[in-house]
Amino acid sequence: MATAAAAPVVAAATSVSKARKLPAPNSDFYQLVDVLTDEELAIVRKVRTYMETKVQPIINKYWSDDAFPFELLPSFKQLQIGGLGFEGYGCAGGSQKLFGFVAMELARVDASFCTFFGVHSGLAMGSIYLDGSEEQKQKWLPPMARFEKIGCFGLTEPLVGSGTAGGLMTTAKRDGDTWVLNGQKRWIGNATWCDVSIIWARDVADNQVKGFIVENKTTPGFSVEKIEHKIALKVVQNGQITLKDVRLPEANRLQAGNSFRDTARVLRMTRYMVGWASTGVQMGAFEATLKYAQERLQFGKPIASFQMVQDLLAKMLANVTACQCLMVRLAQMDDAGKRASSATITRRWPRLSAPPSRAKPSPGAANSWAATASSPTTTSRASSPMPRHSIHTKARIRCRI
Ligand SMILES: Cc1cc2nc3c(=O)[nH]c(=O)nc-3n(C[C@H](O)[C@H](O)[C@H](O)COP(=O)(O)OP(=O)(O)OC[C@H]3O[C@@H](n4cnc5c(N)ncnc54)[C@H](O)[C@@H]3O)c2cc1C
Repeated sequence: MATAAAAPVVAAATSVSKARKLPAPNSDFYQLVDVLTDEELAIVRKVRTYMETKVQPIINKYWSDDAFPFELLPSFKQLQIGGLGFEGYGCAGGSQKLFGFVAMELARVDASFCTFFGVHSGLAMGSIYLDGSEEQKQKWLPPMARFEKIGCFGLTEPLVGSGTAGGLMTTAKRDGDTWVLNGQKRWIGNATWCDVSIIWARDVADNQVKGFIVENKTTPGFSVEKIEHKIALKVVQNGQITLKDVRLPEANRLQAGNSFRDTARVLRMTRYMVGWASTGVQMGAFEATLKYAQERLQFGKPIASFQMVQDLLAKMLANVTACQCLMVRLAQMDDAGKRASSATITRRWPRLSAPPSRAKPSPGAANSWAATASSPTTTSRASSPMPRHSIHTKARIRCRI
């Protein structure tokens, strides 16, 4: 039945596309890709191609199944983006700007896959990078950067989320050269299958939050239960961790993490990534919407030719562009060593303006954003069926809010 109903649309769309071939949707309206160096652009393009050719064709099935696409790991490793933004220790390095654009590209095709990467490369590796000793960095970061060991970050608890700064219920008790951990962690991404868990616990002696590296597959007393029936980020495997008299050597305590201030440094860094990821989700949603509106006919015309639809598309593009500008400026400040204390707004704004529905670029909706970015003759405006001044004005209005 679905095939029969779709047939006239396809036939009509074919005749329209013959009459006027539209450029692929492009959500980089202000050509912000120009802020990247040639080397950075090559990495971003590589990631985009990977996401469009390897992830996009298969990810919906994993979403439906609440499963992680392990089949992608061998090819994902070859992108060599583990530890992006961190220097040394086998990490990919690079600017915060590059880190952000890559996160945006991952999320543009799949927010869950981006989250898997963010939890491993940002939260888990970042905890060791920012709060670990030199020995700990040497030991853990190289295999994690190669994705040979995957990490998770266990801070949230069944009864403590936003209040982790002062109220962690998971305890750490020193016993000679070892520590004994007891408690539970909830919502922990990658926890069901990863190798290295960063666990944050309250030291019963001084009441301060401390971080521990747990080799969870071989440490007695550590168990994980998968959280089922999520309604979002379904591809990320979230777990509830139980720690029952888990014994760890002092060498596994993050040596530069002595209070929640040190945990917060990791959170601040990853909040930045969440802002980029939310912007990437919006890009994917806009491109998929525009492509659909260009192809879907009503009254013998593509619905994108109607002004009310154009208005909605213009608002979407204005929001995407505003978020991109916000994130690029924050990246520039970060790279100049002026990290804004207001990183939180970069997480808030893109989320607030993100579309409520889960939208994905349909197969073939791959746009030419990265591919055409270096071509001065191809502008992103050319990809829109809407009058230029209309979108431009709306984008300006939105940016000023
Ligand atoms: C898909 C997913 C993946 C996640 N991955 C991880 C992970 O990898 N690692 C990890 O450690 N955590 C993870 N989390 C946990 C996430 O960080 C927490 O959800 C977040 O910290 C909020 O905590 P909470 O959900 O317990 O809610 P809480 O913040 O504890 O809120 C509980 C209730 O209190 C209310 N509340 C909170 N603050 C205030 C306030 N100031 N004033 C008034 N009311 C308030 C809330 O509205 C809510 O009703 C994940 C969560 C999800 C959903």
